[in-house]
Amino acid sequence: MTTAFATPNDLRSDTSERCDRCSAEAKVLALLNTGGELVFCRHHAREHRAALEPLALIIEHGAD
Ligand SMILES: [Zn+2]
Repeated sequence: MTTAFATPNDLRSDTSERCDRCSAEAKVLALLNTGGELVFCRHHAREHRAALEPLALIIEHGAD
């Protein structure tokens, strides 16, 4: 008998993640060239963008 459990990591979607710096909804994904990833709200994405751009592919969700 097998039972599948959904874990939070299995439920990732565009809008279910939280900023790594605050609890706001994450709107920006930064794929680091080291293989890691960070998620930020718009506020923190803007704050860290200059530092991230040389090392990460920055993907923004949604439009405003
Ligand atoms: Zn934030």
